[in-house]
Amino acid sequence: MSETIFTKIIAREIPAEIIYEDDDVLAFNDINPQAPTHFLVIPKKPIATINDIQAEDAPLIGKMYLAAAHIAKQQGFSENGYRAVMNCNPDGGQTVYHIHLHVLAGKPMGWPPY
Ligand code: C5P
Repeated sequence: MSETIFTKIIAREIPAEIIYEDDDVLAFNDINPQAPTHFLVIPKKPIATINDIQAEDAPLIGKMYLAAAHIAKQQGFSENGYRAVMNCNPDGGQTVYHIHLHVLAGKPMGWPPY
């Protein structure tokens, strides 16, 4: 897989407001927030899209959600709620081809997400 801007964030080659890190995942505030709180949880392993997730990656994907829930609790919005979503390919609105979980909070989210 080719390098993306997220590879550079993991390597600290470009700046980001990192809010969580462990051996497998990194979370940072989105540079263009779409809600009062908007951060991304990414795996350190580069996986281009949801379609490229392999069976062996299942624990890693679980860790992304565990990190999201951990940060939600830490930041105090787990009870009010939030949206956690991954975009896939052009119709899904994906622009960076390194999977990332968007976590949006701080206001009621609309549905459907036109
Ligand atoms: O789902 P999608 O691929 O469109 O999301 C990419 C996200 O990465 C955008 O929300 C964008 O604002 C964010 N981004 C970022 N920091 C960068 C480049 C992109 O937070 N340096």
